[in-house]
Amino acid sequence: MENSKQMRVWLDKMELSHPLVIAGPCSAETEEQVMEIARELKKTDATVFRAGVWKPRTRPGNFEGVGALALPWLKRVKEETGLLIAVEIANVSHAKLALEFDVDILWIGARTSVNPFAVQEIAEAIRDTDKIVLVKNPINPDLDLWLGAVERFYACGVKNLGVIHRGFSTYTKTKYRNKPKWQLPIELKKRFPDLPIINDPSHICGEREGILNVSQTALDLQFDGLMIETHTNPDKAWSDAKQQITPARLSEIIEELKVRVPKLTKDSSKEKLEGLRSEINILDNSLIELLADRMKISSEIGQIKKNNNVAILQQGRWAEILDKMLKEGAEYGLSDNFIETIFKAIHQESINTQEEVVNG
Ligand code: PEP
Ligand code: MN
Repeated sequence: MENSKQMRVWLDKMELSHPLVIAGPCSAETEEQVMEIARELKKTDATVFRAGVWKPRTRPGNFEGVGALALPWLKRVKEETGLLIAVEIANVSHAKLALEFDVDILWIGARTSVNPFAVQEIAEAIRDTDKIVLVKNPINPDLDLWLGAVERFYACGVKNLGVIHRGFSTYTKTKYRNKPKWQLPIELKKRFPDLPIINDPSHICGEREGILNVSQTALDLQFDGLMIETHTNPDKAWSDAKQQITPARLSEIIEELKVRVPKLTKDSSKEKLEGLRSEINILDNSLIELLADRMKISSEIGQIKKNNNVAILQQGRWAEILDKMLKEGAEYGLSDNFIETIFKAIHQESINTQEEVVNG
């Protein structure tokens, strides 16, 4: 995988003035639904029509897709609208059927890219294809596992490759359905600057509200495109109803997005600066989230102290924390003064939080 430039060719050939926009329903439901959405999307900047045919569901009993029945509908989309078509493939039989129906873009879902056996089998089944293969990040935040899946396709002669960042599962509830953890795609971009990277704000947000913001962050970080779930009647969608938007809303979002860097040009320092600033913004957001998590735990501790009538300030514990952090900070080249200032402020806020719990 040393030559990520080779994987960019398919995207550069598309000569898009906008980022690549892949849109369409979470699931193909009926031929009428598919055709209606595709006709509406044709009026937008979307150039690729997505639809799940085989749906990987976390729990049994949910709608699992109409299956191969939908493949002729997608073919019709391509013939009648000229949009390229994209489906998720999760096993060898899906892979073979997708090739048979001339599907242009095959994507590997988050529940498949975690499994090297499954990825290997699929890669062998589509060996040397010139179709585009997009690998979604695995559900767990493991960059090597993600890249490992890409490497398996590359090693099987699949060169038109790309990745899709769709966020990561977390045990604790967050405002996202799948937390974006932007550090991972940033690191991936550093390692393989030419590997096309698409953002899927729909599966990150899990609801309509945040789609514009997440898409904007992705563009600020020089993502190459967006995959957005779109349905003409989102509330009635058979899967992922809460996160789908109408084609009209998609147009509005695309209109509103600021494309700061239309093409990746590695040597322009202005663009580099903007990219680095976006990275800082992401890290600052993570700092706030971490601090909020820390204060939540502080307040739980406050509750325990209250129930047991224990003093809020435990000098020994505080000295221990500061000492540990000074050592840790020094290892990363952070000055004692800096660490002390930050941790004093954090400690003070912790005490304030606990005092509020204890004294009301
Ligand atoms: C999808 O794209 O509809 C899908 C199931 O996505 P993911 O694999 O990211 O959950
Ligand atoms: Mn979906």
